[in-house]
Amino acid sequence: MYKKVSTNLNFVEREKETAQFWKDHDIFKKSIETREGDPVYTFYDGPPTANGKPHIGHVLTRVIKDMIPRYRTMKGYMVPRKAGWDTHGLPVELEVEKKLGLDGKEQIEEYGLDPFITQCKESVWKYKGMWEDFSKTVGFWADMDNPYVTYNDNFIESEWWALKTIWDKGLLYKGFKIVPYCPRCGTPLSSHEVAQGYKAVKERSAVVRFKVAGEDAYFLAWTTTPWTLPSNVALCVNPEETYCKVKAADGYVYYMAKALLDKVLGKLGTEETPAYEILETYKGTDLEYKEYVPLYEGAAKSAEKQHKKAHFVTCADYVTMSDGTGIVHIAPAFGEDDAQVGRKYDLPFVQFVDGKGNMTEDTPYAGLFVKDADPKVLVDLDKEGLLFDAPKFEHDYPFCWRCDTPLIYYARESWFIKMTAVKDDLIRNNNKINWIPESIGKGRFGDWLENVQDWGISRNRYWGTPLPVWQCECGKMHCIGSREELKKMSPNYQDVVKKYSKEMDGDKGEVELHRPFIDDVVITCPDCGKEMHRVPEVIDCWFDSGAMPFAQHHYPFENKEVFEQQFPADFISEAVDQTRGWFYSLLAISTLLFNKAPYKNVIVLGHVQDENGQKMSKSKGNAVDPFEALETYGADAIRWYFYVNSAPWLPNRFHGKAVQEGQRKFMGTLWNTYAFFVLYANIDEFDATKYKLEYEKLSVMDKWLLSKLNTLVKTVDDNLANYRIPETARALQEFVDDMSNWYVRRSRERFWAKGMEQDKINAY
Ligand code: ZN
Ligand code: ZN
Repeated sequence: MYKKVSTNLNFVEREKETAQFWKDHDIFKKSIETREGDPVYTFYDGPPTANGKPHIGHVLTRVIKDMIPRYRTMKGYMVPRKAGWDTHGLPVELEVEKKLGLDGKEQIEEYGLDPFITQCKESVWKYKGMWEDFSKTVGFWADMDNPYVTYNDNFIESEWWALKTIWDKGLLYKGFKIVPYCPRCGTPLSSHEVAQGYKAVKERSAVVRFKVAGEDAYFLAWTTTPWTLPSNVALCVNPEETYCKVKAADGYVYYMAKALLDKVLGKLGTEETPAYEILETYKGTDLEYKEYVPLYEGAAKSAEKQHKKAHFVTCADYVTMSDGTGIVHIAPAFGEDDAQVGRKYDLPFVQFVDGKGNMTEDTPYAGLFVKDADPKVLVDLDKEGLLFDAPKFEHDYPFCWRCDTPLIYYARESWFIKMTAVKDDLIRNNNKINWIPESIGKGRFGDWLENVQDWGISRNRYWGTPLPVWQCECGKMHCIGSREELKKMSPNYQDVVKKYSKEMDGDKGEVELHRPFIDDVVITCPDCGKEMHRVPEVIDCWFDSGAMPFAQHHYPFENKEVFEQQFPADFISEAVDQTRGWFYSLLAISTLLFNKAPYKNVIVLGHVQDENGQKMSKSKGNAVDPFEALETYGADAIRWYFYVNSAPWLPNRFHGKAVQEGQRKFMGTLWNTYAFFVLYANIDEFDATKYKLEYEKLSVMDKWLLSKLNTLVKTVDDNLANYRIPETARALQEFVDDMSNWYVRRSRERFWAKGMEQDKINAY
């Protein structure tokens, strides 16, 4: 007898029984153990952060990540998959700051780094239980009992090995660079972080009159950041363009680009008087070194102190004729183009903004946040008769993706990995990856690599992998690549162990590798014998997640064979916002260390939108709670919807009705078809194992369905082997429809017939 099949379609309850069965019998573990010795298929799990709750998009990533490894397991591969947790970085610190009522670095240091770090370590597990339940409900199989955790000392030690390897290649350097900088978090951001936080904003720009020295005339120059004007040290023109001196209808004499005369001055004209009259024409180079009167005293004083010449016209190709006046103002501390001009003309370095993004006392706006200084600067210049215009303009401006503060471009000392030196390798390795869809690998990601920038890797923060560089007052720097090396070079390692023995539970006689503990460990300078101290920086947490292929196994200190067997990954999958995040950091680090692509196939997932195609957000109230959705529709229905609905890389509209429709049409039909079989097979006491299929005795209808079935098997196998998910799902759906609505419907009477005739056996 076949097990009785209930005709109710309560899939949600049945799913829970299945999940429990998997758990009680360790089915996931068995699915790997029974494949011992079989070929290995490797999947890397991109680590989520457990200090945020899962959202509906995580259902999509988990179900795609889950289905390919299952398929490979069914095809005879062993598919180990270690779950992971991303635990370092600013979001954790921000959460702890909020919890403790602290604001900014000064207050954190007052509170004490030791207890602050302890709080961070606890905070990262805030929603761990929720994530585990979520994974279980979704049916996502991964080894959650032995996950990799990016804050573990072993993980950090592997990263130190990586950084030292990069250091030894001469690709880790300290530079003075203009960096995108979050003044609230007090730290620079990497270019891939910046790329995640652009927003369209409307601001006022300034067209400013700079008085030409010794002449009753003005340079008209344009800037989008008025707060940089107090730090102005030069103006810049395009050397190849044509510039004019004009008498304008407002009574002033101006120098500006010919191409922009009408755009800027046109509105001054009336029917009687023309807007301007050209007095003379120049080439950009003719204006070079022409001097003007400084706008603010502070900049002039600072230039004098530095014994540098300032406040004259410079030339650079980047000045365009598309906006403004064809003359731009130069503040070398606040922009990469400006900094280059500054180096070329040996301009003074004037940075009248402090690390918190506030104007300094060298300006009349001391203590004001830069963006709040903007309107004051405009008012002041207007009072002085130096403001020609303050047109509103709209542009995309970067905000901190963590705390939403506007970023500023700011000169800072920072540590970099010289990605520009391995650009060709990055591109070559990327070309070996099978991107699904192809367009992202060639387009968005390929373009990103074509314009690759050095990776600004240091963060002036606390909760992260410490940068393992020690420096001596003699100038010597040393990069430590392992705990062993550190112990060998340090005269006080054991003292530090003793000092913190309570905090570290007298832990194995080792110093924890985090700040502030590691900061106390000194090493002896190999050059001069003095004490070397660790630099204060920690590193970008994207380096952590990008290091997971080897750091999850504590390679090269342990598990050498495991790593070698499981590198590179056969398959990874994450949402499209990881293009410049994890997809990039994996490729970057793997190229630096092994000069190899770290993954062979990657499915890029689109974002999940609401049913009207709008982005989901808590504030709009259209965000779907994943737990509620799973409880209402069941994991299988949601999984099926994501598989069949659209290509995974397209934005996916999540729509409860459509999920239910798919459940009814596919799952319900399949279930009812099987229930029909069981009902009659049990009445007839039919046992399929007692019969052999005799092909020549089958009806045309039977042969048709068998042919359809075998075509289906081939289609599913071809598609899944090539990571084509919706094509697979649709083929299954069509087959179930054919089987139920054609085959079973046309064959019903055969099951109702008396006795056990050949035709009935065939139908069964
Ligand atoms: Zn920030
Ligand atoms: Zn030294």
